Amino acid sequence: MDDCLFCTIIAGEIPADVVHRTGTTLAFRDIAPNAPVHVLVVPLAHHVDAAALATADPALAGQVLAAATEVAEAEGLATDGYRIIFNSGRHGGQEVPHVHAHVVGGAPLGPMIAG
Ligand code: 5GP
Ligand code: ZN
Repeated sequence: MDDCLFCTIIAGEIPADVVHRTGTTLAFRDIAPNAPVHVLVVPLAHHVDAAALATADPALAGQVLAAATEVAEAEGLATDGYRIIFNSGRHGGQEVPHVHAHVVGGAPLGPMIAG
């Protein structure tokens, strides 16, 4: 998609700090991290959100989850734990409409939902 920020990053037209890639996924550091480690994992194919991805291509959804787990391991998060977050839609606070897993950790993350 021409006007999608993450498709533009995938195409290499906007620089990103890439930490992991597979044949179907790309992972890069969030530009405004909310934790010591904050990496975004995206499928190379454009899908708007987790529901759209899971419906259209459940195998790819699994590959995104597997890549997120590999990122967490590579970033040293596996022992102490971390979160994988998919924001969806307006109430979920999704700002970029290309599905992405946030992998966050490196410190205690506090309550799951801000009060
Ligand atoms: P969302 O709110 O859609 O779940 O998350 C979008 C994330 O993308 C935010 O955490 C935001 O900081 C990150 N982001 C927005 N623009 C860019 C960018 O140009 N590069 C990178 N690396 N991250 C971005
Ligand atoms: Zn896209």
